[in-house]
Amino acid sequence: MPTANGLDSGSYTDRGQDVARKEEVWAKLHDSFARRLQNVARMPLRLLCRGSARLRRRRTVVLAYHSVGDGRDAVGEREFQKQMKFLHENAQVVDLEAIVRGDHLKTEARLTCAITFDDGYANVHKIAGPLLYAYKFPAKVYLTVGAIDPEKSRSAAEFKGLFQDETMLTWKQVIELYRIGFTFGSHLCQHHDMTQLEESKLAWELEQSKTIITERLGVECRHFAYPFGYFDRQCVQLVSRAGYESAVTVMHRNVPNACDPLRIPRMCIAPFHTLADFGRMLGGDFDYLPIIQRTRRVLRLDYQV
Ligand SMILES: [Zn+2]
Repeated sequence: MPTANGLDSGSYTDRGQDVARKEEVWAKLHDSFARRLQNVARMPLRLLCRGSARLRRRRTVVLAYHSVGDGRDAVGEREFQKQMKFLHENAQVVDLEAIVRGDHLKTEARLTCAITFDDGYANVHKIAGPLLYAYKFPAKVYLTVGAIDPEKSRSAAEFKGLFQDETMLTWKQVIELYRIGFTFGSHLCQHHDMTQLEESKLAWELEQSKTIITERLGVECRHFAYPFGYFDRQCVQLVSRAGYESAVTVMHRNVPNACDPLRIPRMCIAPFHTLADFGRMLGGDFDYLPIIQRTRRVLRLDYQV
């Protein structure tokens, strides 16, 4: 129907959508071009890192996952299956505690990996659990303890800092996972930025989450993951004072031979990582990333790593 300004409302809407579509296509092309340009620019760095990693006798990597499945921020189930198959064929998979003990320094394996999951999403039980059990892979899950209910899977949307479209594990599921070889650590009671918490509140969160996990599982909880990867020197001191033996970060690098157990680096696996990316990451191609992470930290462009 023609409108007062002489434009047909239908075609006007179509034209508006057309412009929006073209802008979207341009934005995608721009992103894709920028990504390719970045890849080309970083190629010498990647080759250098890969070469350097190959010269070393052994390499140890801790992988950080969050959610596996259909969620907006989740690693797809099919991709996760491919990644686990890759590990089965190319790596020795150990529990993080073996790395904390230093067992990885005595192994003959060229590549040793530990698998970790942050936050405590329900799909770790539904999707990751059966697959890891089939491969006999151990894994550690860092629980946001206040979001874990005894029986009812709570919506992550009830809690700040979690993937809002996910649901959380229950204690019943946690115990089932524990029985098939999963181990558990603390990710605080609530998913706080530790650097913004008062000292007394942080000390309470660290102790309370540790106590609850210890009581629920009947084994002492001794391992911790910094929510968002945010921490500073005082946070590390409080983690140590609360009795934790290890704490993992999101500093994207392999585990060095002399690694501070309260600053263990991990490589985060994101939904956009292809199997080729996964292989390159484990092979050392992206070992230059800590330099970028540190620079962003100094320039205050990113979280603390
Ligand atoms: Zn988290």
